[in-house]
Amino acid sequence: MKREQCEECGGKIVKKKVDFKLYGESLGAFSADVCSGCGEEVFDEKTADEIDDAAKKKGLWGLGANAKVVQVGSSIALVINKKIADFVGLKKGEEVHIHPENKKKVVIDIY
Ligand SMILES: [Zn+2]
Repeated sequence: MKREQCEECGGKIVKKKVDFKLYGESLGAFSADVCSGCGEEVFDEKTADEIDDAAKKKGLWGLGANAKVVQVGSSIALVINKKIADFVGLKKGEEVHIHPENKKKVVIDIY
């Protein structure tokens, strides 16, 4: 089924190569249906598979993970898995800055 109009805003859909980023790393350019109104990008199933493959090749696949909060003395600590630590280049003993973005999100700044 070919989409010509955006379901969101009614804008015209055009085929475009768009640069796809995952965790801030470019995976390359992929063809997408892009709305000229709201800019929404939709990839077809085949392209979505290509994006998954590119993510796997770059070692970016499955970086998102659940983590367990553990007790350390009177504080609590979050265990960051090796994949994420390697990706961001974080090692034991390093200092990071941590702050809440809101009540649902905490940001860790790595220097
Ligand atoms: Zn739109």
